[in-house]
This record gives sequence, C-alpha cells and structure tokens, in this order.
Amino acid sequence: MNILVINCGSSSLKFQLINAETEQCIAKGLCERIGIDGSMISYQPAGGEKEKTVTPMPDHVEAIRLVLEALTNPTTGAVKSLEEIDAVGHRIVHGGEKFTQSAVIDDEVMKAIEDCNELAPLHNPANLIGINACKKLMPGVPMVAVFDTAFHQTMPEEAYLYGIPYDYYKNYKLRRYGFHGTSHSYVSKRAAEFLGQKYEDMKIIVCHLGNGASISAVKNGKCVDTTMGLTPLEGLIMGTRSGDIDPAIMEFIAHKEGKNIDEIMTILNKKSGVLGLSDNLSSDFRDIEDGYFAGDENAVRAMKSFCYKVAKYVGSFTAAMNGVDAIAFTAGVGENGPIIRTLVCEYLGYLGITLDEDANHKRGVDIQISTPESKTKVLVIPTNEELAIARETARLVK
Ligand code: AMP
Repeated sequence: MNILVINCGSSSLKFQLINAETEQCIAKGLCERIGIDGSMISYQPAGGEKEKTVTPMPDHVEAIRLVLEALTNPTTGAVKSLEEIDAVGHRIVHGGEKFTQSAVIDDEVMKAIEDCNELAPLHNPANLIGINACKKLMPGVPMVAVFDTAFHQTMPEEAYLYGIPYDYYKNYKLRRYGFHGTSHSYVSKRAAEFLGQKYEDMKIIVCHLGNGASISAVKNGKCVDTTMGLTPLEGLIMGTRSGDIDPAIMEFIAHKEGKNIDEIMTILNKKSGVLGLSDNLSSDFRDIEDGYFAGDENAVRAMKSFCYKVAKYVGSFTAAMNGVDAIAFTAGVGENGPIIRTLVCEYLGYLGITLDEDANHKRGVDIQISTPESKTKVLVIPTNEELAIARETARLVK
C-alpha cells in the first residue's frame, strides 16, 4: 500500500510517498511560493537526483496536480499511475478537543476541522485547502487526517487549564492543546521500543527541539503535560518565538512604544527567541552554536538561555510524573546539536545522568547517549512525522 503524505501550509506543500509495508520513502518533495510569483516544485525519487522546476502555481490544486504529475512521470516518477497511490494522509495542525486521534476524512470531519479554524487561523484553513485539492484530483482515494494536537488530548485538566476565568474555557475552549503531537508520540514509542521496555510502564520526557520547540511528559503511554499551549507560542525559547513570558510585558511594550496587539504578536512570534536574545545574530541554531564556540557573547547568551529553559521544563515534568525513566532528544536541534544536549544534561546530575560523549557525537541513528551506569537513560531518536502519518493512514484505511 502506497501512502501519499501531505503537509500543506498557506504557500507551501511538503509531500512524501511512503510504502506502508516496507515503511520506505519512495519519493519526496516540496512546492514553494504557491500563489506567489516564482513558484517552484522540488522532487526527489528515492536514490535519485533532486530536481527543481520553476513553474506557475496559482493555487493548491495546481500544486497537487504538479506533485501527482512528478510522481507518475514516465522517466523519473516513483509509480506508473495514480492507481498505485492507495491513500492520502494529511497533517492537520489543530483538532481542538474533538479529535483525540486520527480520523478518516468525510464531510463531518471536514466540518469539524473547519470549526477549529479559529484556534489555528494560519494553519487549519491551509490544511483544508490541501484536502479539497486532493479530493478534486484524486476522487475516491481514501484520506486520513492526522492531528498535531491529538496525542496531547490525554492531559489531565490540571495540566491543560490556564489560571484565568473558567468561562473562557467553557465559552471559547481556551486551554493548553500542545503541538508536535505526531512527533512526541512517535519518539516516545520508539524510545520504549529501543530500550526494550513496555511503553505502558514508562515515564518518558521527549524534547522536540527544532525551529519550533516543545517538550512533553509521557507517563504509561499517555501524554500528561506539554510545553506548547493554546498556540505554538508558549513554552520553550524557540528560533524566533519567545516561549513563556509575563503577559504584562505586552501591555508595557504597547504603552512604551505605541504598538498594537498585532505588532506585539509579530514581535513575539518572529523577532524573539534565540534571534531576539542573540541581538539578531541568527534564529538558526547552527549559527548560534558556531558563535557559542567562538565566544560571541550574543550567541553565548542565547544558547545558555535556551538550554536553561529546556532543563527547567525537564525538571518540572519529572516532578509532574514523580520521576523519569528516559529523556529523548529529537528534531533539527535535538538530533544534531551535541553541545545543546551536553549543556542541558549538565543541569540534570540530580537524575543520576552521565553522558557518553562519544555516543553524543554520533548522528542520524537511534542511540543511547547516556553511559550504562546513568540512572536515567538519555536517547537521541530522529523523528519521522511523515512515517507516523503514513502508519496512521494505513491503519485507518485498512
Ligand atoms: P526543524 O524545525 O526540526 O527542522 O529544525 C530546524 C533547526 O535545526 C534549524 O533552525 C537549525 O538551526 C537546527 N539544526 C540543524 N542542523 C543543526 C546542527 N548541526 N547543529 C545545531 N542545530 C542544527
């Protein structure tokens, strides 16, 4: 069974074709600048060359048409015809409280996703456009929605409620939802499997550290807390997002600089995080790492603040679960940044953690980076959200 995994944004669309039996990626690519001048599709079949084509893409229907054309191209295509694509899995950012797991897409599910638009105005409408475009071009092919929020729906009330008037929860469903759920689920399960322990008996902390970053506490196979909230702005310091701040800072900046709420939200989403803390050196952790080693004070400040916050949440989630068996690092920074893992783990001596620095410098494989004596295990598990979406899609379609 071949599954087409689609991650559709407002002007971009990532895709992967995955064989559900072998779990191998057969082809992948990206459409960029959809609806904007200079649209471009990149396509790469497994083991083949990556090709980039600049071509007009006025809308998402055209983007998907080009994706299907590339996948079935007689010379470079991964399949002979569209009939070899058995199902489509869509990454959907917000499933609200309605979706506690993935769902086969029908009219009712489409309506329920639309009802969540208010909670993710930048993402859910784009996800729906992707679904509609696929419906048009691949009529009759089953489709599944896999939600970023679903894995976190097991959080208890005390973890998801904010200390604000309860009416806001009752009337508008304002609460912590959490994101990156597909990754947290995949990595926590894989961590248990890697250690040869029962998922349902473990306490695991997953640190998904990428440009967007979040941590989750997974106890007995269920998420019990996570750092992102109503939106992906809360929690850790990220590439350009502030993470937690005192909400009164917004009022202070508004009065001091005469800014309105939209301008302040742009500052918190796009100009903060390690970019802001490094005095605009970079939002890219590779630059921050280079600067840190070169002793650049802006990079050192950003790096130390980022790692401190990660360690602080690991501590609070250890308390929330009354212990932790394993900590798993994943995503761009979590998988590739040994110095970040070292700096975080320096705070965690009280958990009996000692790192194996040789293992900590290996890349691209599931690996234990704590020493055999380490009381709490520390792992690096490369995430694979596309594979997790393909697995969910195959499970529901079968
Ligand atoms: P993601 O959002 O998971 O794709 O992660 C993207 C981030 O990973 C980028 O901002 C990079 O800063 C970071 N990254 C990628 N490679 C490295 C590396 N070798 N060292 C540190 N950070 C890295």
